[in-house]
Amino acid sequence: MTFSTPLSEVLGVGPSFSQKLKKLGIANVRDLLFYFPRTYVDFSRITKISDIKEGGTYCVKGELTNLKKTQTFKKRFSLTSAILKDATGSLRIVWFSQPYLAEYFTNGDVVLVAGKVTRDKDGIAFVNPSHEKDRSSLTHVGRIIPVYPETRGLSSRWLRTIIKRVLATISEIPETLPESIVREKRFLPVKQALWQIHFPNSMESADTAAKRFAFEELFYILLFVLAERKKIAEVKAPAIPFDPPLMKRLTNSLPFQLTDSQKKAAWVILKDLEKPRPMNRLLQGDVGSGKTIVATMAALGAMKAGLQVAFLSPTEILAKQHFKTVSEILQKFKVTIGLLTGSADRFVSPKLPNDVIEISRARLLKKTLEGDIDILIGTHALIEDKVKFENLGLLVVDEQHRFGIKQRAKLLRRSVLIPHLLSMTATPIPRTLALTLYGDLDLTLIKELPEGRKKIITKVVPPSARKSAYGFIAKQVQKGRQVFVICPRIERTEHTAEGEDIKTVKEEYEKLSKEVFPDLRVGMLHGKLSSREKEEVMKKFRQGKTDILVSTSVVEVGVDIPNAAVMMIEGADRFGLAQLHQFRGRVGRAEHQSYCLLFAESNSPNARARLKALEQLDSGFELAEQDLKIRGPGDFAGTKQWGIPDFAMTQLTNLELVQETRDAATKILDEDIALKKYPLLKQKIQELRAKLHLE
Ligand code: ADP
Ligand code: MG
Repeated sequence: MTFSTPLSEVLGVGPSFSQKLKKLGIANVRDLLFYFPRTYVDFSRITKISDIKEGGTYCVKGELTNLKKTQTFKKRFSLTSAILKDATGSLRIVWFSQPYLAEYFTNGDVVLVAGKVTRDKDGIAFVNPSHEKDRSSLTHVGRIIPVYPETRGLSSRWLRTIIKRVLATISEIPETLPESIVREKRFLPVKQALWQIHFPNSMESADTAAKRFAFEELFYILLFVLAERKKIAEVKAPAIPFDPPLMKRLTNSLPFQLTDSQKKAAWVILKDLEKPRPMNRLLQGDVGSGKTIVATMAALGAMKAGLQVAFLSPTEILAKQHFKTVSEILQKFKVTIGLLTGSADRFVSPKLPNDVIEISRARLLKKTLEGDIDILIGTHALIEDKVKFENLGLLVVDEQHRFGIKQRAKLLRRSVLIPHLLSMTATPIPRTLALTLYGDLDLTLIKELPEGRKKIITKVVPPSARKSAYGFIAKQVQKGRQVFVICPRIERTEHTAEGEDIKTVKEEYEKLSKEVFPDLRVGMLHGKLSSREKEEVMKKFRQGKTDILVSTSVVEVGVDIPNAAVMMIEGADRFGLAQLHQFRGRVGRAEHQSYCLLFAESNSPNARARLKALEQLDSGFELAEQDLKIRGPGDFAGTKQWGIPDFAMTQLTNLELVQETRDAATKILDEDIALKKYPLLKQKIQELRAKLHLE
């Protein structure tokens, strides 16, 4: 038996179990051994029966007598009962629905039994306890026992039995980590670590083993990420000269002054673009910090150097907004800008500065290929293979957390030279994740918001105050402000539970426009509208012809309506913190005092904690750290695709471990970038590559 032995060849794993294991992604011996316990129960201490009290959980060793099998409750349940005796007394045991136990045990067997002792009409008893006949090596009682993640049809008891059998049978397990690291970190060797994580001698040694495996998972990720980084540093990219007077002309034409943070970020980026190596940079800045203008400066630089720019947006609404903004900012600079979305394509040409021209997809693609489009802005459609550039020099990815690394990689491989990459995000990446999953990127931060922005007042509104909230909204509209109302769904469907208290855009639109605000102009926006309709709705809102926009999360990221001052969110508990912060970022984008009103459906402690955090914290960075604490990194944007096992996920928040691991990976790569001395590591990295579909 080796790591690659299929489980169907393991004694005790029949076809039906094989099938169930496959569903969990467990196909061979290695997968099984790396299916780690969710938690442990300590049944290592044996209690005397005379010391047992109602309500406690115990493990007891004794002799079984009075074994009986009966039917109860009008024969609906089978019931196996027995008396357990030790030197200090005796106690009843009842097992429901396990009739085979009456045959499996015989009176006089010495057994260990573990579980909770509760009271029924006949006194106190063990009810459905774990059990095992006494033998030298115990698996289910009389020790610390592993509890595996809940799975249909695969009990922890069954998994324990099989895993122990495999551990006892497998002769050789190759050490996966470099010996030097195992020694230096005083890790358990791999086989011992596997034993200790499944069947620990103590909770401490379970911890020690877990630490080794967490280190290992992080180590592979870091090796991969850091090796990618080194590789990119050796590739050629078109150098884009830094042209200060040109940039000065651009910034002077803006209606505002750049913040110091924006200037610094732009400087770092423009300097980086000068190098003949691809930039790989993430521009992080809270919602409303003004990332678009910084990206536009980089785009102008690239375009003046005779290169093309691709500008990727996660939604059509945002792509259209960027098309408009960037066209306006660059109006004087003789730039041809194209817009490519799922529906209507168009472009502006410098020869017709104020005219937006509809264009067929075919013509737009042809123009792009021939280099007649300087900046092509678009949605996912931009990543399709049909879209070819003559000379792509810079790729800007807005709201990068909405895209997978696979999509980014695809775009980057688009031309002869690798283009520079500028990703942008308002969802800050906690430091630990920045060092690991994003370790191949350089980070630039926009730390401050433009001057004059006021703190957005955020309040969780109880149902009883809904009316006064509407009154408040009406007053804001009187003052000339605009309002977003976000609902979690478009409409009720057959999937909506009967009587479920969920707000839908269509219903709220009806209610708000007819009953609550009959005198105000209410609009509706959601993903089922045609792209024309969406555009029309956004245009009216932008022009101030709509007072209140009822919308789904389609406006979550990027949308920039400076006059909007109230963001009301229905079913706020259904959204994650980062998402809520993004919604909130749709207001407070100019000098007006702005408000975020949160309405919750559920009152669960987790939901309350999240909404409270939003009330108290304004900075996206603090919120992200908080979110990481409340939910763990598993839900964090972009972490899923790595397929990191849960046990390692939790370690992603451990800064010390992350740093330690990063140092170790750097050291190995400095010595041996091709990992020639470490074939097993090399294989791991290839597996990771395949998992990320980068090949
Ligand atoms: P985000 O970083 O969220 O993408 P945007 O780039 O959309 O933010 O900018 C938000 C708003 O702030 C826009 O209306 C933009 O014109 C404006 N803005 C950007 N920089 C400044 C600045 N330095 N001073 C004032 N307003 C600015
Ligand atoms: Mg933006």
